[in-house]
Amino acid sequence: QDDTFKQVIAHAKEYGYIFSSSEIYDGLSAVYDYGQNGAELKKNIKEYWWKSMVQLHQNIVGLDAAILMHPTTWKASGHVDAFNDPLIDNKDSKKRYRADVLVEDHAEKINQKAQKEIAKARKRFGDKFDEEEFITTNPRVIRYKKEEKEILERLAKSLTEENLADVKALIEELGIACPESGSKNWTDVKQFNLMFGTKLGASADSATDLYLRPETAQGIFVNFANVQKTGRMKIPFGIAQIGKAFRNEIVARQFIFRQREFEQMEMQFFVRPGEELKWFEHWKETRQNWHASLGLGEENYRFHDHEKMAHYANAATDIEFNFPFGFKELEGIHSRTDFDLKAHEKHSGKKLQFFDPEMNKNYVPYVIETSIGLDRMFLAVFSSSLKDEELEDGSSRTVLKLPAILAPYKAAIFPLVKKDGLPEIAQQIVEDLQWDFNITYDEKDAVGRRYRRQDAAGTPFCITIDHETKEDNQVTIRHRDTMEQKRVPISELKNIIAKEVDF
Ligand code: ATP
Repeated sequence: QDDTFKQVIAHAKEYGYIFSSSEIYDGLSAVYDYGQNGAELKKNIKEYWWKSMVQLHQNIVGLDAAILMHPTTWKASGHVDAFNDPLIDNKDSKKRYRADVLVEDHAEKINQKAQKEIAKARKRFGDKFDEEEFITTNPRVIRYKKEEKEILERLAKSLTEENLADVKALIEELGIACPESGSKNWTDVKQFNLMFGTKLGASADSATDLYLRPETAQGIFVNFANVQKTGRMKIPFGIAQIGKAFRNEIVARQFIFRQREFEQMEMQFFVRPGEELKWFEHWKETRQNWHASLGLGEENYRFHDHEKMAHYANAATDIEFNFPFGFKELEGIHSRTDFDLKAHEKHSGKKLQFFDPEMNKNYVPYVIETSIGLDRMFLAVFSSSLKDEELEDGSSRTVLKLPAILAPYKAAIFPLVKKDGLPEIAQQIVEDLQWDFNITYDEKDAVGRRYRRQDAAGTPFCITIDHETKEDNQVTIRHRDTMEQKRVPISELKNIIAKEVDF
């Protein structure tokens, strides 16, 4: 597992997807830069989300609110008082950890033991293996699953200000050791606010304290009335936004999974009070279908319904993904009640209500939120697409089987040799196709090596121009996943590519 994760990180760097931030100065921890291919993949994920959420829903519109917001926003939202992580220090190593993450990792290890048993049994029974039955009857698996569940439930109960001592007790009871030193000598658990502060204005005396937004959602809430009125929106309707958020995360690890600067793709859906749970189910299903449409493998997803909710929610679920380090939260779907709009009404003195003509009355709408981390989605797509394959001739290849619609380059164009007019024909094809698709050109090395390079970079098609092209206007098109090669007329290239990469 560790090796797979290391391979993912190394591959992301080698192929221009992700670099550490300001690397020439040895980087900045938990901050990353997206390289030439990473920027394209990220843009394509955003577009795929935006099209399915905004373009395909007549009652959802977009928004691009500023990162800096009036400081009262964060008082109203509860972030000043309650946006904390429980931290614990190891007295011997002097290292600091998130107490809840230590416990979650411990629970994940137990889950891994159960997974190992399941994998062993699958190997043993082959086609006859009934996973469902095995999980519910095998005593070891039952015990591991129960143990995992009990730990997570107890953790959820103890993650409030009053019960923090119980998190420490849990860590001690489970015998969790400091991952770095192995020591079990822990301090008490303390709360730490995650917001980044900054100042507005030039002189220190007149400056106002501001925060970099820790979530994009509040930009939507404070603009509720603006968008509703100017867009003449009728309930139910949604506002969607993609943008940066900042959190001063203490556990800086797991690559782009947990960063200090990251992007969120959030949608707040405003509904009639009392109808929120129906819409919660609706968005759970809609978001699940969105993930399924990308084909990253159903087995890589699971829902984790929350028994214990944040103060503002009356239903919540996480869509978890099987990252190289185990199942972790990728997206959150929350029924946020009227908590946020009411809080902003109270702090601003402005009405944030909707007049419902059918009910003939004003009310503060209830809200269903879908919130997905763009960077986490990037990691989910990238890590699950990276494969080492054994080929029939005994050789092997590394291939990045990105969904074609998300791939940075849709096709690579190769002249077989760098002479006899072949580069000129290849360049002409680039010029024709680049209006519709992001295209790359490569004339260096043998064609086989060029194929391998594009496989590893995730390009779905390679198109080779040879001497016969001059006679018959046909080229060889090779498919990344099947490696199948076909001869096709140049005039058909656009359709062939479009069929696979269009929305
Ligand atoms: P976690 O428990 O993993 O810290 P969270 O429950 O605090 O996440 P939310 O506040 O619900 O996360 O944020 C919504 C989404 O934003 C998450 O599902 C995740 O995809 C993304 N996200 C949150 N924090 C980070 C981060 N530090 N780096 C990258 N993505 C993040």
